[in-house]
Amino acid sequence: MNNYQIIAGGEARETDGYAEVKNPATGEIVGLMPVASLADLDRTVAAAAEAFDSWSKASDADRQRACFAIADVIEAHAEELAELLTLEQGKPRNGLGSRWEIGGAIAWTRYTALLDLPVEVLQDTNEGRVELHRKPIGVVGSITPWNFPVMIATWHIIPAVRAGNTVVIKPSPFTPLATIRLVELINQVIPPGVVNVITGHDQLGAAMSNHKGIAKITFTGSSPTGQKIMASAAQTLKRLTLELGGNDAGIVLPDADPKQIAEGVFWGAFINGGQTCAALKRLYVHDSIYDTVCAELVRVAGTVKMGNGMDDASALGPIQNERQFNLVRDLVEDARARGGRILVGGEAPESDGYFYPITLVADVDHGVRLVDEEQFGPVLPIIRYSDVEEVITRANDNPNGLGGSVWSSNLDRAKDVALRLECGSVWINKHGAIQPNVPFGGVKGSGLGLSFGLEGLKENTVTQTVFC
Ligand code: NAD
Repeated sequence: MNNYQIIAGGEARETDGYAEVKNPATGEIVGLMPVASLADLDRTVAAAAEAFDSWSKASDADRQRACFAIADVIEAHAEELAELLTLEQGKPRNGLGSRWEIGGAIAWTRYTALLDLPVEVLQDTNEGRVELHRKPIGVVGSITPWNFPVMIATWHIIPAVRAGNTVVIKPSPFTPLATIRLVELINQVIPPGVVNVITGHDQLGAAMSNHKGIAKITFTGSSPTGQKIMASAAQTLKRLTLELGGNDAGIVLPDADPKQIAEGVFWGAFINGGQTCAALKRLYVHDSIYDTVCAELVRVAGTVKMGNGMDDASALGPIQNERQFNLVRDLVEDARARGGRILVGGEAPESDGYFYPITLVADVDHGVRLVDEEQFGPVLPIIRYSDVEEVITRANDNPNGLGGSVWSSNLDRAKDVALRLECGSVWINKHGAIQPNVPFGGVKGSGLGLSFGLEGLKENTVTQTVFC
């Protein structure tokens, strides 16, 4: 078994405690996570602060070269990272699984490396010249979830270091190992202290969010945790980017072709076993095609193999952890008790892992937990509607606002509906597509700020206006 250590100032450091990380498909131990103390956190933040001094002054070309070198070193170890990710996270290596995730990490890193932040001239007249400069903020604390640990780590780390900040990343205690390995690799190609990793339980994240040495927190995770971070970060007035939970609605208009949309709807909901922030989590289908859409989704579900992620025939893996497994099971039981009709799935098989089958639940509505709450698992509630105006109101009747989608054979009509959905991203005849050049973020309870592209890079800077 590999020996995983926290990394501060370019060096692996021992911690007093370790905790087991288990494979959610088998229950076997994958490795030991170092459990860092608050003193370890102080030392790691100090190492990042020391490195900030020179990294913030490094030339733009040097920082760009470093980001390209990070992409290259990830690429050179892609298969090793994908395997470790599958073992600790559970997702299959194939399909939209761990190989795809590592590929995404490389693509986002290369794209972000190419971006730059030139000085903007706001005015250049006889009255004077005014310039807008963008400067690094300091030590960025990154706190990540367990669903896409490597890709999200690069979404946090790369724009931060590209803009001249240094980073202390804390992965989820459910999936810390691939992030430690990623940071080990990154440290082979960048100066010591620029990217540091610390691991431990949730309290470590709480300690980061009010740590005096951290100037900004970039957080991806659940909305309740985001709220706690925001409250605690207020004491030191940290900059914040919060990418939080979602309960994305998909609306199938009466003119949609059920056969044509079924695959897209299915994978919009079940990518990564539904453990995806911007997955389709509530499907609204017009009464006139409700039964046909349900039947098509059941047909697609029957073609998808769920199993151990190391088996290359698996398209979906287990739920990542017991807490999430129990939540998903409880939401389905509650829906069943409240009249929900289980079209497929709904009973977990006997297993050493947290396998929960693909589950489609018809005839549920608002007021049932499975519709109102984020399920974050392989379950989709399908809600019947008959009035398009009313369904828009209901789709928006949720505290979250991450993504949404409209399914129709009439693009203009779909776009009219899409523009009325309260969410940061909206898709037509697809759900959940993201790209490194397109800003991504939530509205309402789904977060603050943006990731990706130039907007995401700017989040890692403070501005200074210069009156010359
Ligand atoms: P979570 O909020 O439980 O944990 C996320 C991280 O926060 C972990 O590293 C955890 O250790 C840490 N943490 C826990 N308590 C903390 C505290 N009080 N202070 C600081 N840090 C703390 O979320 P999760 O279960 O790991 O992830 C699933 C959630 O993440 C879902 O709600 C999902 O929608 C959301 N998510 C959002 C996006 C997005 O881009 N909007 C992307 C992926 C996941």
